[in-house]
Amino acid sequence: MPDALDILRHTFGYDEFRHHQAAIIEQVVNGGDALVLMPTGGGKSLCYQIPALARRGVAVVASPLIALMEDQVQALQQLGISAAFLNSSQDQFSAQETRQRLRDGSLDLLYVAPERLLMESTLEMLDNCHIALFAIDEAHCVSQWGHDFRPEYQRLSVLAQRYPTIPRIALTATADLRTRQEIITQLKLQDAQIYVNSFDRPNIRYTITEGHNARDQLWRFLQMEHPEDSGIVYCLSRKKVEATAEWLNKKGRLALPYHAGMSAPVRREHQARFLREDNIIMVATIAFGMGIDKPDVRFVAHLNLPKNIEAYYQETGRAGRDGQPASAWMTYGLQDVIMLRQMSEDSSGSDEYKRIQQQKLDAMLGLCELSSCRRQAILGYFGEKLEQACGNCDNCRNPPQTWDATEAAQQALSAIYRTGQRFGVVYLVNVLQGKEEQRIRQNGHDQLALFGMGVDRSQQEWRGLFRQLIACGHIRVDHERHGALTLTEKCRPLLRGEQQLHLRKQITPAKKNRAPRRKSEVRPADQPCWDALRARRTQLAQEAGVPPYVIFHDATLMAMLERRPASLEAMSQLPGIGEKKLERFGRAFLTVLAQFERDARPASDRPDTVSDTLRL
Ligand code: ADP
Ligand code: ZN
Repeated sequence: MPDALDILRHTFGYDEFRHHQAAIIEQVVNGGDALVLMPTGGGKSLCYQIPALARRGVAVVASPLIALMEDQVQALQQLGISAAFLNSSQDQFSAQETRQRLRDGSLDLLYVAPERLLMESTLEMLDNCHIALFAIDEAHCVSQWGHDFRPEYQRLSVLAQRYPTIPRIALTATADLRTRQEIITQLKLQDAQIYVNSFDRPNIRYTITEGHNARDQLWRFLQMEHPEDSGIVYCLSRKKVEATAEWLNKKGRLALPYHAGMSAPVRREHQARFLREDNIIMVATIAFGMGIDKPDVRFVAHLNLPKNIEAYYQETGRAGRDGQPASAWMTYGLQDVIMLRQMSEDSSGSDEYKRIQQQKLDAMLGLCELSSCRRQAILGYFGEKLEQACGNCDNCRNPPQTWDATEAAQQALSAIYRTGQRFGVVYLVNVLQGKEEQRIRQNGHDQLALFGMGVDRSQQEWRGLFRQLIACGHIRVDHERHGALTLTEKCRPLLRGEQQLHLRKQITPAKKNRAPRRKSEVRPADQPCWDALRARRTQLAQEAGVPPYVIFHDATLMAMLERRPASLEAMSQLPGIGEKKLERFGRAFLTVLAQFERDARPASDRPDTVSDTLRL
């Protein structure tokens, strides 16, 4: 049996295993079951790909997303691994070819959607093959409590019954304790070893800002932090997706829309361009992103609030899979809070289900309004303790100021109470600010003692206060009465003066423009070489019909830039360069490097000819 470490080094071009990879691989290679919980970008795929190569027969990978399957297969083929997929998007001929390779035993990995895997005809075909293992990717889809339930996943338990001696490995990036438990029961993994990795993604910088003018804030963020990077901007509605993409294009950035209302060919084209070209901003509803394996997404921006921390973490987790610095940035406002509160009350489903959704939303809102380290809170939510504040989130970098909001909150709560718990935020703020409005006069609310009591606070400040009171559950939004605010039990101690309330101060973003961050860590003198390496990569990618990162990741190009290998041997030492890739692309990049070596050094220092260098 080939050694796992050999495969890692020679086929994948990496030096060492990360996290629990070595233990997981050993377990599966030896025929045991495994449940793997690892954050996005942690390196889950190797946990079944290496056993697939080390064990005899074909590894069958159940994967829910067609795009993801195709990506993975493409990347594996570049490494010289025999991989294929079966799914509904493929033509008859290629499906037939895959079946043939399966029958003649020449496949190492077969990717297949669960519903196809579970078809009797597929299972019968597998009955006659030598199977190395089953991998169940995105295993949280089996759980009703998770955020991405897919009923067909529950039927994957068939595999345990039909193939009791074949090892199974289930993998997921999102699983709280409850989901984890359900994966084990549903997939019959009671005997599996469980490997829980830290869910931390230290290279991602979290920022959550509140307030108005979301677009301006987004623009400032993009220009300051990511003037030339590619990334994703998430919006809730299709309309907002279209409008935001158009606006970004007008401002001079290259942005493409993506949502479920667009035709499939256009969606495919936009997705393909996002993968293949540099510097594209994808503006999308959450319909986009599942299964997008692009490792160099430098930022994920949310213009709306996700429903829960699981969704937020999964969506932001699409940034920086390559381990290089990346941003997760979000702005949200009062309307988001009101809308999500209403949606969670309106949703169909059992009371238990609603209660859980409500709790998840509470946790999400809590994260937004938090004034301590965001990463500690997120990891804490997933049951992991981070001892020290992270230093790489907005709250750590600029600790927010808080203010004593007790009195203002009492005024806001009284305004709700005195007006009969029948009005929405706009009306209430007008009452507090003493606006002479006809409706207020007709209702006699200009006669209330608190009419105009809050004139010294701006409308923005009041809205911010209401938002935070709704977020912490002191106020409820009554969805049956058009967003009328009502009081909850929780606000009593506050009204009675038994509790103090400290809230985040609204920050008005600094007007002064900081210098934009440079597009990468490349030294100015190295920039031409860096650009040439990237151009070569783009060219090779186009020739091979694959995204640039399938040729080499940024980190690999960066290593070339820093270490300047002058021979294939030296090149093979760099991370991410296995034997196949060295053979295919090594020379092409050596030529580029040699070009710059020669330009940069004084003549006496130069090797005689480029080809001499290459023959070393
Ligand atoms: P996940 O599926 O957990 O999101 P991937 O399997 O896609 O993560 O791996 C993320 C990235 O890390 C990939 O580019 C992969 O090649 C790289 N990677 C995985 N394991 C290692 C390792 N041991 N050393 C270096 N890079 C690794
Ligand atoms: Zn922090």
